[in-house]
Amino acid sequence: MTFKLANVNDRANLVVEDLVFDLEKVSNGNFSSDVMDAVARHQELHVITESLSAESADWALPEVELSAPVPHPRNSFGVGLNYRDHAAESSMELPPVPVIFAKYPSCINGPFNAIDLRTDTADYEAELVVVIGSTTRDVNPSRAWEHVAGITCGQDISDRGLQMAAKPPHFGLGKSRDTYGPLGPLLVSTDLVANPDDLKITCSVNGEIRQADRTSNMVFDVSYLISYISNVLTLEAGDIIFTGTPAGVGAANGRFLKPGDEIVTEIESIGFMRNNCV
Ligand code: ZN
Repeated sequence: MTFKLANVNDRANLVVEDLVFDLEKVSNGNFSSDVMDAVARHQELHVITESLSAESADWALPEVELSAPVPHPRNSFGVGLNYRDHAAESSMELPPVPVIFAKYPSCINGPFNAIDLRTDTADYEAELVVVIGSTTRDVNPSRAWEHVAGITCGQDISDRGLQMAAKPPHFGLGKSRDTYGPLGPLLVSTDLVANPDDLKITCSVNGEIRQADRTSNMVFDVSYLISYISNVLTLEAGDIIFTGTPAGVGAANGRFLKPGDEIVTEIESIGFMRNNCV
């Protein structure tokens, strides 16, 4: 299922190398412009991708302004303490089961959009985001990847002050301020990466690398996370999971985000996002 899906001006587009094709147009109206509908019908996207020829391209990739490739997920999950080194820097024991929280979908933001901090305790968290592609209930880990539409980069921006203000601490609100969920740049089908369970992930702030790890160092891998959640509730196409962040977050050394900071989040074979803080 080879495809790259982009959101351009709230319309679904396919990307081949640096060419961008409007999905409604190149499918002769078989698809609407709706990006979430394209995610749900991801299995059909590879056929259309194969049929594309350069002459029918609408834009070159550098010309377009990309929005989140999954703009309106029905459910959006986060995973706490899912890399060993990050748990250690947070002085927390490894959790016995996945720490799942809601990152409310209204926080979803574009891959090159500004982050409106609104606090002096905001922090970055580079994460692999997995996008569910079909109804998923009680799935065995060995079959879990079959239910994935694709993967992309995410930032689980977190207001630590808000997180810790409640006793006991809570995750949902502190990770869901408006603009706190950059996603993108493209939704990439998993057959376009060598091994979706082992991808290099980095985050830099103002050009300084703060986080660098591999997704193979997750405590609970993607298959386990999908299986675990699907045994509690039914996942549907377009639901997304922020799969946790490696070590190096600002909270570990008091280096929180400030207006003017530039965050670059990159995952091997997927691409990068660049978000400025205001
Ligand atoms: Zn996170």
